Amino acid sequence: MIHVDQPYVSGIRDRADSLQVICVMGMAYSGSTLLNYCLDGHPRIFGGGELHWLLAPDKASFDWDVACTNCGTGCPYWTKNLINSLSLETFYQGIARAFSTSIIVDTSKEWDWFGRVLHTGANREVMPILLVLTKHPLRHLASHLANKEAFSPASQHVSRWSGLRRQFLMRKYVARFHRWYQRLFSLMPSDYITHRVRYEDVAERPWETLAPVMSSLRVENSPLVSQPYRFVHHQIGGNAGTHFIATKNWLGGESDVHALRRAQYQRSDGMFLDNKYQQLFSASEIKYLFRDYKYRNLCELLGYDTDPLSTNRRS
Ligand SMILES: [Zn+2]
Repeated sequence: MIHVDQPYVSGIRDRADSLQVICVMGMAYSGSTLLNYCLDGHPRIFGGGELHWLLAPDKASFDWDVACTNCGTGCPYWTKNLINSLSLETFYQGIARAFSTSIIVDTSKEWDWFGRVLHTGANREVMPILLVLTKHPLRHLASHLANKEAFSPASQHVSRWSGLRRQFLMRKYVARFHRWYQRLFSLMPSDYITHRVRYEDVAERPWETLAPVMSSLRVENSPLVSQPYRFVHHQIGGNAGTHFIATKNWLGGESDVHALRRAQYQRSDGMFLDNKYQQLFSASEIKYLFRDYKYRNLCELLGYDTDPLSTNRRS
C-alpha cells in the first residue's frame, strides 16, 4: 500500500514508469553522505553520491581516479568502462541501466549542476525530486571551522588576537552560508517537487523524516533507511567521517583530519547528532553569535531557532 500524505505536482507521465532522481542540494558538511547512505539502504533506491564528479571536465588532470569511494578503482559496479561510457546527454539513464534501478540519488549539491544535466538530452525525461538539505547554522559553522588552524581546540583563547581572528572567521562563514542559500533559493525552479530536509532529523529519525520523500517517489518507505551503516555503499565522493564509520578507514589518511572530528567519528559506530560546536566554540563565542544579526537572519532563512538546543526541544 502506498500512502501519499502530501500533495505532489502532477506529472505528465506516470511516475511509476519514469526514471526518478533525488537531487540533493546543500552546502558541504550538511550531512549529504549520511542522507545518501540512508536512502541507499532502500531496496528500490541507488545512492550514487556526488555524481557530477563523473563528468568533471578536468577529471583527467586529477591526481586521483574518479572511482567508487568504498572500493576505489577495483569496484565491481563503478568499472572504468562504465565511467568512461557516461555522457551528459544520457547521464542518469546510463547509471540507471548499470545499477538496474529507476530511482537514483545524486548528492552533487549545486543547482548549477542539476540545472544543466536535467535540461540536457534524454535527462529531460527524468522526474526530479529536489531535496534541500540543511544543518543548523551553529553545527554547520563548527563543521566548516573544525578544519581551520585557528579553531584547533589548543589555540582557543591563547591571545586577544586569536579571539578576534576566530570571531572574524565565524562572521565570514555565516555570511558565506547566507549568500549560498539565498542564491540557491533564487535559482531553484518552483515547479518541481521539492522537499526541505534537516540533517538533524535525518540523524535522529530517518524513517519518519524520509517518509514524505518516499510518498513523492511513490514507493513504500523501508525500515532499512534507518540503518545507514548496515550495508556497503558504492558511491562517488562523500564525507570522510561518514565513510570512516562504515569502513574504519580515513580517506586520504588520518593525519589530515582535525582531532575533534577524528574523536567524534572514532567514538561512534552508528548514527549520532554532530554537536562538536559545544567543544569547538566557547560559551562567550556562542553568545556572540546569537547576537549577530547575520547569524539570526541565516537561522530564519533556513527555519531554525537561534539556539540548536531549543530546536531539539521542539517536536
Ligand atoms: Zn564500489
